[in-house]
Amino acid sequence: MNELPKMSERNENNDNLSSSSSDSDDAEESDDRQGTSLKDKFENLTSRSSENSALSYLMSMLRIKPAQEFVESERLTYEMVIEKIKKNEIKNVITVVGAGISTAAGIPDFRSPGSGLYDNLQKYNLPYPQAIFELDYFVKHPEPFFHLAKELLPEKLKPTKAHYFIKLLQDKGILLRHYTQNIDNLERIAGISEEKLIEAHGTFYTSHCLNCNKSYKLDWLKDAISTSDIPKCVDCKELVKPDIIFFGEALPMKFFKSLNSDFRKCDLLIVMGSSLIVEPFASIITRTERNCPRIVINKHAVGGKHGLRFDQEGTRDFFLEGTCDDGCQKLAEELGWNSDLEELIKSAE
Ligand SMILES: [Zn+2]
Repeated sequence: MNELPKMSERNENNDNLSSSSSDSDDAEESDDRQGTSLKDKFENLTSRSSENSALSYLMSMLRIKPAQEFVESERLTYEMVIEKIKKNEIKNVITVVGAGISTAAGIPDFRSPGSGLYDNLQKYNLPYPQAIFELDYFVKHPEPFFHLAKELLPEKLKPTKAHYFIKLLQDKGILLRHYTQNIDNLERIAGISEEKLIEAHGTFYTSHCLNCNKSYKLDWLKDAISTSDIPKCVDCKELVKPDIIFFGEALPMKFFKSLNSDFRKCDLLIVMGSSLIVEPFASIITRTERNCPRIVINKHAVGGKHGLRFDQEGTRDFFLEGTCDDGCQKLAEELGWNSDLEELIKSAE
């Protein structure tokens, strides 16, 4: 089997950040490592949809803003940001997340020998790994994809502390929007509302018949997969495909529609568990206003090429090194929300 396509822009060590990566087991680390997660793979594949001309046009709308001069008096400290949240001065938080918020939920790894999904897909004789997410291949050979879908069925997975922290932001009334690259449905299970949720790479939550476009809910899909391997439309008997973004497909319109108005209003950006490599998703973080504080929770510092600065030059960017769950726990403690978060998690069990 061939290697997965490499992301040419990927090199965090050139990012001129105060903290460079030394983690070798980071789920967001990329394809040259053993243990690339399914999410990474999916992100890599969907990123290649930039070759699609409609998407190229939309990507051009995502250009990085020109650098702006900072005024010293505008310099923020991390403590100031925490205080602002406590004093209800922050009202429009945007969260931007990737695979890292779901690894603690046990999202299956793609390439671990033996246990990884990749090994389990060998029996399907894929011409190359990414074929599993290509529409042409899927139409002819849907079996491998639905094998994968079974592994990702949400009842097998529980949201993480990080998911519940985002739900808590919603409950506190300060979550403006949650942008996710993940297709695991865990945001919905955690209770993040449809209105707040932008599933940039699609979702298993709904499916559509590829022939008559009849819409199906997740429960139907789960039943169909468990009783027969291949879900077929009840009306026309043709193939039904979950609404996740396949190779070459454009990102959902909801993603592009929300961007402009959301990021103008944003008064705190929290980035979690993403290497910020996959475009056009990663560049959305550049759209905040120049004084908007940005907190990154990740195992290694990211976002350098998108202008995030965690060193002395930075005026508003803060890096919490570690897992997403640990970072959210820290934030919850500092905000005095610890018991709220615990209650929320308990009530979901
Ligand atoms: Zn149909």
